[in-house]
Amino acid sequence: MNQTNTQNFLTKNVSILDGVGAKTKRLLKKKKIEKISDLLWNFPLGFTDRTNVKSLDNLEIGKITTIKVKVIKYNFPRIRNLPFKVICEDNKGKIDIVFFNSREGYIRNILPINSNVIISGKINYFKKSYQITNPAYVLPIEKENYVKKVIPKYSLTDGLTEKIYRKLIEQVLKKITELNEWHSKNVLEKIGNISWAKAIKQLHEEKDINIKSSYFRRLAYDEIISHLLVLSESRKRIKKFKKISKNFDLKFSNIINKNFNFDLTNDQKKAIEDINVDLKSNYKMFRILQGDVGSGKTIVSLIASANTISSGYQAVFMVPTEILAKQHFDLALKVFRGTNIKIQLLTGKTNFKDKKIIFKELLNGKINFLIGTHALFQKNVIYKNLGLIIIDEQHKFGVKQRIELSDKGGNNCDILLMSATPIPRTLIMAIYGDMDVSRIIEKPKDRKNTITLSKPEEKIEEVLDFVNKQIKKKIQVFWVCPLIEESAKLDYAAAVKKYNSLCKKFPNEVGLIHGALNKDEKNKVLNNFLKKKINILVSTTVIEVGIDFPDANLIIIENSNKFGLSQLHQLRGRVGRSAAESTCILLYKKNLSDNAKKRIKVLKSSNDGFLIAEEDMKLRGYGDVLGYQQSGIKNFKLADPIHHSDLFDVAYQNIKEIEKNKDNFKKFDFLLKLFDKADIINEINY
Ligand code: ADP
Ligand code: MG
Repeated sequence: MNQTNTQNFLTKNVSILDGVGAKTKRLLKKKKIEKISDLLWNFPLGFTDRTNVKSLDNLEIGKITTIKVKVIKYNFPRIRNLPFKVICEDNKGKIDIVFFNSREGYIRNILPINSNVIISGKINYFKKSYQITNPAYVLPIEKENYVKKVIPKYSLTDGLTEKIYRKLIEQVLKKITELNEWHSKNVLEKIGNISWAKAIKQLHEEKDINIKSSYFRRLAYDEIISHLLVLSESRKRIKKFKKISKNFDLKFSNIINKNFNFDLTNDQKKAIEDINVDLKSNYKMFRILQGDVGSGKTIVSLIASANTISSGYQAVFMVPTEILAKQHFDLALKVFRGTNIKIQLLTGKTNFKDKKIIFKELLNGKINFLIGTHALFQKNVIYKNLGLIIIDEQHKFGVKQRIELSDKGGNNCDILLMSATPIPRTLIMAIYGDMDVSRIIEKPKDRKNTITLSKPEEKIEEVLDFVNKQIKKKIQVFWVCPLIEESAKLDYAAAVKKYNSLCKKFPNEVGLIHGALNKDEKNKVLNNFLKKKINILVSTTVIEVGIDFPDANLIIIENSNKFGLSQLHQLRGRVGRSAAESTCILLYKKNLSDNAKKRIKVLKSSNDGFLIAEEDMKLRGYGDVLGYQQSGIKNFKLADPIHHSDLFDVAYQNIKEIEKNKDNFKKFDFLLKLFDKADIINEINY
């Protein structure tokens, strides 16, 4: 086959391969394998040594073994559900080959009486005889070389056997010829200097998969660059539109600066500078402000709003919940004191009469700044001249949603997203490559680290005593019984039980929030807590990110051993948002795993979300870290930000080179198909 033929072949449906009937096709589809190239990404997880041929007097129970035997006798019981048995022998002994859920005809066919066969499978011992149940391989003795090998193990669905899969992969690998290289020489040298065809073959044939070896690195790099190509297209689309540059002086922000009683951190100042440059630019801003919980993103966004408004535009600020909207609204009123900026609040709860006035005043430009929930983007909300959209606590936007968002508000509208999910350095561009990123790493000076303790559940009485003392000192308490997915019902019951027992100990002090409450019920409890009608808040669900409860400075997290580092850090971030001292108690059930011990140790020693995200990635693999699931990054099949961090860096450099010339993109057409990225690129460029 030549280059084009190989490429065409790989993009065809698997059904053209030998041995793919309707059933196998269905099974493959279950594993998301439809094109021939999809087969390639299901690479071996390990290898089974079937070279180990033993005579029947020399078997070891539990070992994968290959035997050469003669078929002697069938035992096909007529009772349903009993397995079929075939008795075989060599000159040293006998063995039963046992088949569950099989057909008589099939067995007679693969194991004809008196024939010599080679069989490979795991040795069992049952009712005084050796047996192999559902052997992986049964072949005529002439084919022994096909079995007597170190054979790749694949992760497969039921019904799709190793034998079938191997047959398919072998057909595919045989047809792959060398392709024209899509990477430059320079890049190729950095990533292992091996062609795609060689690398893919080695991935399937190598005995020890080594993710640091050349063939693996080459393929991982292909994957990273295909991902960046998508982000690059998305970025180009977002940046396509020119806008009227915003023109402002620092009149408003100077007034505002007097309205809060702290100095901005250097990172906050830098973020404001970045944003100001964007606002003044001729191109739309599409920036994400990343900063750990409590790092002070809100004030940065309020200053951005002030500058937008001062240049004659309106600004909107969207947050996920009503309470958060109200809190940001109150803060904005305070911060904008002494200016003539008109601020309004719009949520799903705003009554009809007020809404009508708001709509009118948005249209005639009387309202400068609107804060609220999703209600801000209803169809009937029309702005006179919207210049800035701010979206808070949003890490669930995939590439597609980001593009939709960039189209909102018209050409003159800049966009600022804010996220509290710390992302390890290596992944920032891979996740946010289509946006500009500002990061707030430095915490406000007055901030003390949250003191973190761990306690086994048996010591609950000590914890309760501590809670009692804190409440007397007017410190409020979060008591989190986070949902563990195993059984939502049981989890819920546990939280209710905890609530009841805490109510007995602390009458009239406790509230409960759980997933089954509706918005109003939830808001009522949260408001009671905010207004200190209650001082202990038990919750099953994550307490709203972002709400400031200034006097809640103790958080107790049950079952803490079940959670990942980043999750625990996010939960802990509900306290310690002011200069006051704060404490986090991690409760755990006995017998901590080593990994859980490590997590607790990291949390005790650090309050730095970025460092914790890196550690989390090391302990768990990057796929599970909070927030990445939604980012599309989880779909990496080969690339690993820890072991391939240098490849990510090469790719970040390389993508800039590629972007310089439109023709460069064409070289990657086939690569994008290989990684299923072609469709999304078409969508971006519709
Ligand atoms: P987040 O980044 O999680 O949204 P916020 O903007 O809500 O954090 O800020 C958390 C708290 O820190 C708020 O009470 C805010 O007023 C305060 N804050 C923000 N910046 C500073 C600073 N530079 N110095 C002291 N406190 C600050
Ligand atoms: Mg916030």
